[in-house]
Amino acid sequence: MKAVRIHQFGGPEVLTYEEVPDPKPRKDQVLVRIRACAMNHLDLWVRKGLPGINLPHIPGSDIAGEIVELGEYITDFKPGQRVIVAPMHFCNRCPKCVGGLQNQCRQFTVLGNAVDGGDCELIAVPAVSVIPIPDALDFNQAASVSLVFLTAWHMLTGRAAIRPGQTVLILGANSGVGSAAIQIARLFHARVITTAGDDRKMERARELGADYVINHYQQKISQEVRNITHGEGVDIVIEHVGPATFDESVRSLKPGGTLVTCGATTGPKTELELRFLFSRQLSLLGSYMGTMSELYEVLGHVFAGRLKPVIDRIFPLKDIRAAHEYMEKSQMFGKIVLNP
Ligand SMILES: [Zn+2]
Repeated sequence: MKAVRIHQFGGPEVLTYEEVPDPKPRKDQVLVRIRACAMNHLDLWVRKGLPGINLPHIPGSDIAGEIVELGEYITDFKPGQRVIVAPMHFCNRCPKCVGGLQNQCRQFTVLGNAVDGGDCELIAVPAVSVIPIPDALDFNQAASVSLVFLTAWHMLTGRAAIRPGQTVLILGANSGVGSAAIQIARLFHARVITTAGDDRKMERARELGADYVINHYQQKISQEVRNITHGEGVDIVIEHVGPATFDESVRSLKPGGTLVTCGATTGPKTELELRFLFSRQLSLLGSYMGTMSELYEVLGHVFAGRLKPVIDRIFPLKDIRAAHEYMEKSQMFGKIVLNP
């Protein structure tokens, strides 16, 4: 099959489009022909180098495709079935996994991070990772759903325990997580404040359901939040940007408020005003992906049309370098999808 592989870490030039052996499904696996694989910011980190990656490596986390072959033990799927592949790898045996907390498994990793991913034509995966999709959802839409909607769902429901009527600040409306979180917060009848970097992205954010949009290059986020909330602050902040916005995010919280972070796009370290943390009794929570149960839950809303994947642009898989360069410019609104 054709696959994108990296043989060394570095810039877009280390991405090679090449012939590799077809994967063979084990007895407990299915073989999926990949029709679409969506990009995530993780793809850039993987290419630049993360611990735990064995080279050569196939990146790519968000897979949609068709089942082409079943392992001997698999009886509840059939060839030709349209599916998505859960964007994660876990042991499925440890106390965390059998307790339904797959994202706390010691072997947990995102597909395409410490294990080979979906920037290729075929992948063999455990049957437990495969979820059928309705005909109404095309492959590009289906590939654009899993990672970001699962991440945003776990942050808002599993971690921050969102309640109807709360006010939520969502950083970066144009990011995959941002565009998913806006829709999920609206599903809970929350008041949504979000941020974007230009007029076009601000308009798109309003179309997705944001009540207020702050231009994070021209306006001071915490000050605008104070104006919008009449000095009160927000109940929940959805963070994934990191040092560029973290202090502003913390300052936007009301007393007793909760910040949830799932990423650090602008760098790994930040300062924290401890007096703010204790005197306002804030909660700062980490969040990483979500559980299989949460994935099924959020997909139910997507399949019913209540949550919609946002696609920015589709690239042929062989143009992988151009796709990475495009993502690094951060001009997108929503997902970048690769088609093998
Ligand atoms: Zn496990």
